[in-house]
This record gives sequence, C-alpha cells and structure tokens, in this order.
Amino acid sequence: MNERDTLKINTNGNLEICGIETKDLAKRFGTPLYVFDKTFINKMCEVYSKTLKEEYGEGRILYASKAFSCKEIYRIINNTDLGIDVVSGGELYTARSVDFPADKIYFHGNNKTESEIELALREKVGTIVIDSYSEADTLQNLCENKGINQNVLIRINPGVEAHTHHFIQTANVDSKFGFSISNGEALKIVEYVSKKKNLNLLGLHCHIGSQIFEKKSFVLAIEKMTDFYKEIKNTLNIEFEVLNLGGGFGIWYSQGDSMQKYEDYADYVRVICKSLTKAITEKGLKKPFLILEPGRSIVGEAGITLYKVGAVKEIPNIKTYLAIDGGMFENPRFALYQAKYTVIPCENANLSYTEKYSVSGKCCESGDIICEDIYLPKIKKDDYIAVLSTGAYNYSMASNYNRNTVPAVVMVENGDAKVIVKAQSYEDIVKNDI
Ligand code: PLP
Repeated sequence: MNERDTLKINTNGNLEICGIETKDLAKRFGTPLYVFDKTFINKMCEVYSKTLKEEYGEGRILYASKAFSCKEIYRIINNTDLGIDVVSGGELYTARSVDFPADKIYFHGNNKTESEIELALREKVGTIVIDSYSEADTLQNLCENKGINQNVLIRINPGVEAHTHHFIQTANVDSKFGFSISNGEALKIVEYVSKKKNLNLLGLHCHIGSQIFEKKSFVLAIEKMTDFYKEIKNTLNIEFEVLNLGGGFGIWYSQGDSMQKYEDYADYVRVICKSLTKAITEKGLKKPFLILEPGRSIVGEAGITLYKVGAVKEIPNIKTYLAIDGGMFENPRFALYQAKYTVIPCENANLSYTEKYSVSGKCCESGDIICEDIYLPKIKKDDYIAVLSTGAYNYSMASNYNRNTVPAVVMVENGDAKVIVKAQSYEDIVKNDI
C-alpha cells in the first residue's frame, strides 16, 4: 500500500481514509460504497506533471479517463495541469458536460462511429487518434464539408507487448489496435494520412499494455518508435512534433506489488523522459512534445470499496466464504482475469490476520468472487470490510448484472465526504424498459 497519511489504520485500530473512519462512511452512505481519496488523485497528478516538466520539458500528462469516468473526476483533473483521453462519445460527453477544455482532450478508439466523430468535431476536440483507413476517410470528409482542419495522431503497434512483470517483443500483427511497424502497415498509413488535406498529422501514439512494472518495456517501445520516426524522416521527409507513449504504469494491489511511494510512480516518467532524450539525440530527431496517458495509477489506489458481510459460510476443511453485498456487478476484475486485492476490516483492523477467507459476491455465478484465500482477523456477519485499490476499472466496468444497482461513489478529502455519483435505484434500472 502506498505509504500515506490519508489511508491508514488509526489509533482506534480502525481503517480511516482522509481522516474519516470507513465504518462511519459505510453507515452514513450504505454499502457497497465506492470511496475515493481526492488528496491521492491530486498528488499523483502533481507528481507526474512535475516529473515530466523537470526531466523533459515540453509535454503533457493525460488522465486516461476510461479508468474512472464521471463528472467530478473531470472537474478534479481540470484543476490540475493534466489533459484527458477519452475512448467513447459517452466519456467525451461527460467531460464536456462539465466544460473540460476541448483542446486538452485526445480521442482514442479502434472503431469510433461517425456520430462520435461528429460529436468530437462539434465539440472541437483537440486531437483525434486515428486507428483505421476508414476513420481517416470519414474524418477527412467531415472536416472538408465543415471547412475545418483537425489535429490527428495515428495509433501504432510498435511490437512490444507488456503486462505486469512480463513483456515480449513480437511482430504482433494480430492486434485490433494500431498499425504494425514490422509489416510495413504503419508506414503506409502515415503516408496516407499525411496526404489528407484537412488532417494535420502531428505524430504517433502507442500503448503497450497495462499494469506494467517492468520499465524496460517502455524503453523498448521508445527505441521502436524513435527508429520509426527516423525511418519516416528519411523516407517521407516528415518530422513529427508529437509522440504519445500511452499509459500502463503498474500499481499496488496486494503483497508482492512493489509500489510504496509517490516517488516510485515518478520513476516511470523519469525513465521514459531519460530514454526518449537519449534516443532522439542519438538518432538526430527533433524533440517531440511528449504525451503520457496513465489512468490506473492516478485513480487506482485512490479508491477503496466498502462492503457489509451478510453471511459467513464455512465449508468444513475446505473454505470459508465471506458473502458480501457487492460482487462482479460493481467489481468484475476477479471474474475477468483473477485480479488480486487486499482486504482490511473496517474495525479492529490491527488484530492478527489468522483466518483464511474467500470473499464472494451476490451474483448468480460461481465465478463471482472478489478475493480468494486471503487472511483476515475473525469476521462475523454484519462486519464491514474494505477492499483496497479499487479506484480503476471498477466503477467504470460496473453493470446491472442480475439487476443489481450500481453503488454510490463518495469523494473524501480532509475529513469531508460528499457523494459524487448517486447510487442507482430500482427505478433507474427499469427507466429505459418499455
Ligand atoms: N491509453 C490507452 C490507449 C489505453 O488503451 C489505456 C488502457 O487501456 C491507457 C492509456 C491507460 O492505461 P492504464 O490505465 O493502465 O494506465
């Protein structure tokens, strides 16, 4: 867990966040409850943009808002130096509904619909990241009809794929994202888009994976992308002004994940800046405006989810389940890819963690588990527990599976708590049913 004052076991032995005991939040707002630490989010934004400025200069950090998207997070990010990336009309609409500056929005997606592209143009989105020939054509036609020019990047597949502690270099031509350098497709699309009259091709984008701890994979991606920038300079006589290297920095979820300090996160940016500076100097390239797009690491550890235990079900000599009032409808990450988490009881959290439990959700799926085989102090019915590091890809991936309602989101800072997304009601669930 990131060493911080804002999430700790206090002198009463209870878990508190931003000066409020989590049991009090659970009682006041109900469970399940997503809780976000605003201080952590602001601190991460500051750490990233300060490091980029100090180590590189010209550049921008974007918050990859797919990790957690709602009006309030766009307001918070708008009070920092960061821009955002969006991947759908819905994220774009949400950001613009709270006046997030359009020029600081980057629009990704491997199949943006024509109406999403039209929305982006209407809203004057700063940069669109092209991911297909047909998208380039649609964009050119719409821009020509409107008599406007649009800044664009192209998504490239550099042939480095990384997840957690592993990375591989691949020819990797089968990804649905981007154009591969290795098979020549990337060079072809660059030439194609550079000839579009109404599209200003500023540079290229890549994103090599998520929850990456191995910094060498970013260094490799920089090698491949700058080699490609050099090839483009030599063959097409184009020198790009922008390089977007995506996001993917790994965060702390459970024992074994190394992130302990804000400085550990700054190191990702430091390594990238140093490697890029070295690569462009060696290859004689113009210094590009550097863009990075972390999502998970800005909000992941900021979020915790609170639950009430409804039943303790012991299967003698096999397993003891803690049945909680949430599940895969508000946190599908275990069901999707066996994600690991840390659980802490909201009260008496300083006792010995001697009892083995699995935390199960309330959906009608055996795979609806939040955590398997973890150790906690003895837990009984009606106790509250907190699952840590749930800020990214939880609320944003929530569903109404089994017609469960999506829980409320509460933002806390300096002893204050406010609801930023209301809990869904049953009425909300049937609202669109005819
Ligand atoms: N940029 C792009 C294009 C992505 O697809 C993603 C995540 O999938 C991100 C940024 C953010 O990655 P992370 O949340 O792992 O930092």
